[in-house]
Order: sequence, then structure tokens, then C-alpha cells
Amino acid sequence: MVVAGDALIREGQQVLANTYARYPLVLVRGKGATVWDSAGREYLDCVAGLAVCNLGHCHPKVVAVIEQQARELIHCSNFYYIAPQIELARRLCAHSFGDRVFFCNSGAEATEAAIKLARKYATERFGKERYEIIAMENSFHGRTMGALSATGQERFHQGFHPLLPGFRHVPFDDVEAVADAINKKTCAVLVEPIQGEGGVKVPAPDYLKKLRALCDQTETLLIYDEVQVGMGRTGTLFAYEQFDAPPDIMTLAKSLANGIPIGALVATDAVAQAFTPGTHASTFGGNPLATAVGCCVVDTLLEDGILEHCREIGSYLHEGLVLLKDRYPFITAVRGQGLISACELAFSGKKIVERCMDKGVLINCTADTVLRFLPPLIVTQGEIDRLLATLDGIFAEQ
Ligand SMILES: *Cc1c(COP(=O)(O)O)cnc(C)c1O
Repeated sequence: MVVAGDALIREGQQVLANTYARYPLVLVRGKGATVWDSAGREYLDCVAGLAVCNLGHCHPKVVAVIEQQARELIHCSNFYYIAPQIELARRLCAHSFGDRVFFCNSGAEATEAAIKLARKYATERFGKERYEIIAMENSFHGRTMGALSATGQERFHQGFHPLLPGFRHVPFDDVEAVADAINKKTCAVLVEPIQGEGGVKVPAPDYLKKLRALCDQTETLLIYDEVQVGMGRTGTLFAYEQFDAPPDIMTLAKSLANGIPIGALVATDAVAQAFTPGTHASTFGGNPLATAVGCCVVDTLLEDGILEHCREIGSYLHEGLVLLKDRYPFITAVRGQGLISACELAFSGKKIVERCMDKGVLINCTADTVLRFLPPLIVTQGEIDRLLATLDGIFAEQ
């Protein structure tokens, strides 16, 4: 493996909490779908800050908005009205099922807000015995205690018990399992429209629609976690649009401001009414800088043909991966939608990720055996060709 910035890496190992199994690489610069390390080596970035930099690194419009907003007002308290925050909320509502937005700073915080809102709404409407949330096995919703408790993967729970009570987990893409689990204590169903960390699992086309109907029948809130798949990643602004089943609450974060920390909860007016002054808050949430960039991200996605491009290039990547699967029997599945794409291997993908890095391509492996591709949505066909050729070369060595 390529080792760059040795001294810095050694210092990092001393002074940083050891929460990440990091690669020995220091990234110092980015442009579009390309990043450079501290030794000046160039990489095609198919991680994109983990589905954060959807417009690519240092997109000129994003840089311009950051510069301008930084000169005007970087932060002020939510004691006051914040113009870019209102602008971003208006955009998110105009282009979704939602009527009202609460802003925070990360995906985990957006999950926490959703848990609190669902409980508050159900308590007011049905009484305090109705607090349970049905979440999915293999899901991922963040690392804070509430979001961790919602996350349906034992390996993330180990060492952190007791978890927040009131969560039940059922298999993903199984409507019957949800129907069986809903009872008089249930206040909400929480689901990722496509499971990201869980291995890029795409449900049956009618799954969300059936969940919607089930939730309507039982007066249960439907919450979508679109932290990873929202903001154009699947080829529509929000992933749920492709399943024709709007939720009551949706969470966003990751690419909402292309790398400036932000999270959001979008809700219908009826549900959002449960949040009243003093019930929830965030000091940084919706600050002028983050939300000004969020506005720029929404506008650019919608006005610069990026969603169409994502669908086109996403299909191109998918077809390329299917061709590789035909040639390499150890590829057991190819999955994805738009530019969240994956191929599942019959063995751990860790070595493949390292070999890709050696060859100047950054990819990620999730759920141990799933190679996940999350390039910026502005990635070119030529860059996808390079990714596919690199994978081909490495697969041929196996
Ligand atoms: C990344 C992610 C989160 C957590 O977001 P953080 O900003 O890391 O807290 C939550 N849900 C999903 C689906 C994610 O992919």
C-alpha cells in the first residue's frame, strides 16, 4: 500500500481517538471527482466523503457561496430568524412531501430529532403508552444513543448497553414482519428507502408503498432515513420519489451542504405541530453558513442537469458491474440505484479496496463483502470507465 505523510500519520495515531480503522493516506486537496494525497498522488474518489460531496469536491458554486456567506454572517442564534435557513426549508418543502423543517448538524442528530418528534406526536395524540419504533435489521441510523438503539446491527451495540428502550427490529423488505410487529404501543416505522451501510440493499418496488398503506391503516408514522440516499444520490432529489410513497417524517444530512456539517428533519405540518418552543433545539442547527450552502446544493442539483446525469451514469456503472459479474463468478450480486452502487463478493472486500487505492481509485467496503461505489454525481463516463477497468484488473488477479 502507498504510504504518504508518514510523520503526520504517526502523530495522528497518538493524538486522535482510535475510533476509525484509517488507511495510511492523508488527503489534502480535491476537485470534482479527484482528490490528491500529501505526496501529490491523484485518486479517483468513489467514496466522496461517504456520499457527502455529491457535487464533487470544491464545486465552484459551493466555494463561492461559502466565501460570500462567510463575509456576511457565519452564525447567529435560533433566537432570531435566519434568512438562508428559511430559504433552504422552503426549497426542501417545495420539492418534497414536507411542510416544515428542523435543522441540526448530522445524520445521527436528525435521527434523534425524528425519534423525539414521533414520540411527542404519538404521546399527544394517543397517550404515553405509544412510544415504540419498529426499525429494520441491518439498518444504520447513526452512533448517538438513540440513533444507535434504532440501528439494527448488533456489532454497533456491543459495549454500549443499556440502549434506549422502545425499539423493535424486523427484517428489511418484509411488509408482513412489520404488520406482525405493529401493536398498540407502536408510534412509528423507521426505514432507509435503500439500506446503505447494510450493503446497498434495494427493496422490492412496492415495499414502501405497502408500508405506507400499513402505517395509514394503523395510524403509525412512517419515517424515512434519507441521510445517505437523499439529495440526488439515487437519481431523484429524494429516493422515496421512485417508490411513490411519501413518509410523514424524513431525515437528511450527508450531502445536504456538500461537506459543510448539516442535518435536517422534514415533516408534514400535522406531525411537525408536536414540536413547540422548548421541545427541541440545536445551537448550530440551520446556521447561516450551512443553510446558504444547502440552498446552493439544491439549486445546483435541480438546475444543472445533475439528476439526469446521475441516472444516466448510474445505469452505465450498473451495466459495467453486471458485465464484470458475468466474468467473475465470485461477484455474487450487483445492486444499486443511480450512483449508490455495489457488488457483493464471495469473500471480504478489504483487500480489493486496498488494491484499488494502490491503483489510484478510492472505494469503500461495507458489510464486509460489499464493495460500495459512491462517486460524486458529476462523475464522468471516462472516470467510470477508469473505475471499471481498475476493478477488472484487480478481479483478474483473484
Ligand atoms: C451516515 C448515516 C447516518 C449517520 O449520519 P452521521 O452524520 O454520521 O451522524 C444515519 N443514517 C444513514 C442512513 C447514514 O448513512
